[in-house]
Amino acid sequence: ESFEDMCLHLSIMKDVTFHNYTTPTPIQAQALPVALSGRDLLGCAETGSGKTAAFSLPMIQHCLAQPPIRRGDGPLALVLAPTRELAQQIEKEVKAFCRSAEGFRTAIVVGGTNIYEQRSELRAGVEIVVATPGRFIDHLQQGNSSLSRVSYVVLDEADRMLDMGFEPQIREVMRSLPKKHQTLLFSATMPEEIEALAQEYLDNPIRVKV
Ligand code: AMP
Repeated sequence: ESFEDMCLHLSIMKDVTFHNYTTPTPIQAQALPVALSGRDLLGCAETGSGKTAAFSLPMIQHCLAQPPIRRGDGPLALVLAPTRELAQQIEKEVKAFCRSAEGFRTAIVVGGTNIYEQRSELRAGVEIVVATPGRFIDHLQQGNSSLSRVSYVVLDEADRMLDMGFEPQIREVMRSLPKKHQTLLFSATMPEEIEALAQEYLDNPIRVKV
């Protein structure tokens, strides 16, 4: 399988080529077709496997197919990650993959940074938010963002998010989403707690393991 076979939007392909990604990694080869088909996905993969592109490319493709967002709208896609460092790394990669996607904005929403800057960015409207759960819930509670247009959700390193005590925040987000949405859950390990979370919030997911 090559990236050319994946039916990715031309603008995304441009950025994939620009990134010098020539061959999909095993997780990408397995996860991209599933995610692009709109199915929920339960992925067992570690950092370094290329999972960021595996969920980001279909996420951008999904967002390109949505009606544009206006000022005051919440994001179309949300990525939750356990740490500020990981969230920053993901946002950097997502940004690079939507260089050619006309007018696409991404926001990084993590603790330890200026909440007022984040607020104005979120209120102006962004297509994609990459966040740590605690800080994102703060913004939801303050009315700076909303889940009303979120239709693509990624829970990255879900096992670490649970280890860090983010389960209530994850559940809060998952139960407040619009009915129609696609969910991708990635975890390096699959303990019972992750299986339970997947059972509850994923709709007939395809399992992918590398
Ligand atoms: P990740 O597991 O998403 O953190 O990715 C690990 C590293 O592999 C990152 O530096 C990516 O830029 C790189 N990478 C991901 N997919 C590919 C690919 N298909 N070809 C070359 N490098 C890649």
